[in-house]
Amino acid sequence: MGVVDEIKGRLDIVDFIAGYVPSLTKAGKTCKGLCPFHAEKTPSFIVFPETQTWHCFGACGAGGDIFSFIMRQEGYQFSEALRFLADKAGVLLAERSADDAEADKRRQKLLEIVSLAASFFHSRLLQSPQAEFARNYVARRGLGAETVQTFQLGYAPNRWDGLKTHLLQKGYAEADLAAAGVLIAREDKSSGYDRFRDRFIVPIRNERGQTIGFGARALRDEQTPKYLNSPQNALFDKSAALFGLDIAKNAIRESGQAVIVEGYMDALQAYEQGYKNVVAEMGTALTDPQLKLLKRYAGRFVLALDADSAGSAATLRGINTARQALTEGVKAVPTAQGGFRYEGRLDADLRIVSLPPGRDPDDFLRESPEAWAALVEQALPLVDYYIQTVTASLNLEVAKDKAKAVATLMPVLREIPNSVEQEHYLQQLARLVTIDERVLRAELERAAQKTARPADRYSARPAETKPQSAAKTTGGLEEYCLAMLLGRPGTLNSVNKKLVAQNIDVLNTEDFADVQNGALFLAVKHWAVTPNATTDPPLQTTDPHLEGRLAGVLALWHNRPAPLEYVERELPKLVLRMRRNRLEKQIRELNQMQRDSLQTNDRDGALQCRRLISEAKDNLNILDKAHDALSITGRRRMEETFRG
Ligand SMILES: [Zn+2]
Repeated sequence: MGVVDEIKGRLDIVDFIAGYVPSLTKAGKTCKGLCPFHAEKTPSFIVFPETQTWHCFGACGAGGDIFSFIMRQEGYQFSEALRFLADKAGVLLAERSADDAEADKRRQKLLEIVSLAASFFHSRLLQSPQAEFARNYVARRGLGAETVQTFQLGYAPNRWDGLKTHLLQKGYAEADLAAAGVLIAREDKSSGYDRFRDRFIVPIRNERGQTIGFGARALRDEQTPKYLNSPQNALFDKSAALFGLDIAKNAIRESGQAVIVEGYMDALQAYEQGYKNVVAEMGTALTDPQLKLLKRYAGRFVLALDADSAGSAATLRGINTARQALTEGVKAVPTAQGGFRYEGRLDADLRIVSLPPGRDPDDFLRESPEAWAALVEQALPLVDYYIQTVTASLNLEVAKDKAKAVATLMPVLREIPNSVEQEHYLQQLARLVTIDERVLRAELERAAQKTARPADRYSARPAETKPQSAAKTTGGLEEYCLAMLLGRPGTLNSVNKKLVAQNIDVLNTEDFADVQNGALFLAVKHWAVTPNATTDPPLQTTDPHLEGRLAGVLALWHNRPAPLEYVERELPKLVLRMRRNRLEKQIRELNQMQRDSLQTNDRDGALQCRRLISEAKDNLNILDKAHDALSITGRRRMEETFRG
């Protein structure tokens, strides 16, 4: 559960709004008061306790949840509203420290140092007479000048103070060099020495292209260790970094696929051979932060493993982590309330390829570069690979091992979102362990019910009644609208033009009933006009608490990218549908209120409702006409696409 939901769960909207709207009184199932946002004598401001929402049926026609209320009331941005309400609700936000500015300055300085060090190493590799041996090494690996330059590959001289002297001359203190990881400090503080000496240097950059650390490979047999990395520090976290992502991200986005190799030498070789969608983990099993990072750019991952690590326990653990990481915040499922919730299900396409015995990707790519594409193409889907590897070490004739196989694999099968696929693997497992598949299916369903999350109390339903179509639910309309804008940022303008041409308001935050979606829309709107909008998601412009939602929306796009002309044609209609849904919800609410009024003999109230219902229906007609004008067959297509 995200902080927004946690806050909403702790604050009651009626109590909260009553603090701002003294006239708020109970009227049937709802509460009614004078709208705080426009002057009125007859109350038309309604709060709905059941859905924890509010709506003004008067002049402003606004509505939303507790967040949008306080944002309108106090003029807060989403971030401010979040802090304010978190405080009221007693929910602790994971804040950065109060010394943000100081920490940023410090980080900036370390980035400068590491970047200067990278230039230093690079120029040594290109020019230093001492680097002859290193240049030969580069040539032997088959890395060309373009690769050397693109990755700013370098050489650390065989001296204790080569880099140190260079950087001290630029005015940096020893302590800073040590903090940046390029210097090893000593007790007396003035005699630290270069960490990297006589090594081939590979700068590690983050996805934005900032150098954050180094990988240093030994050039001679007697040197140990063979691979030496920058230490963990304020800049460099090897469990979160992905080597090459800054260079590979466009190719990953374009191909919709990221190939992950084990070492940076593998990634360099792939680049050299023209395979540009390849990144490398930093000597750790694939981690959760790494996968979240990748999910911003693609929906399909191929993990290329060295043959000797392919079946190891560490690799399986890594894959299991990957499986779990990929399930988070990926799928949006509509709820009975007309909202949605995210369901943790395995929805990304993770495939595994193991290389021929004794070969790593570097060797393979150098020996037969043209075969790489086919190798990647043959990658096994995660579940197949997992089943194969888990069962390979078991004796499936033995009851104990059968039980172990079922216990290990059942959680994986349970998270397969597509029921046809799930059935396929269930049958496969049944054959493997020679257990009747009905027994396994019962086990699957029993386990699914046991793990139904309490947070889903409104929408929990028994596993067997889950409609098949839920398997590939695309998320709510709002999320898909955002996904299209993220995927095709240039279209916002043309979409608005089409709406205006139909005498319809441009897309705005009010169109998003969900406050996080509204805040994300604002960020996307600002980002869409920046020059880099096509390459970098709007990560800087959003509140850190929106990251989860942003990742979910990006995943939605990666799972279903659409061509530009499709987005230009369909997005205006999608906006109209979002507005239609909102109006329909209002009409339902008004009908309920009208019934309440009649029951309490409030004739005026009932009349007011009737007038408002007819107004809302007029507005529906206007939307429908605009929709028809945009396309005759449009609505049917939208139904098919988004109702699933
Ligand atoms: Zn109002």
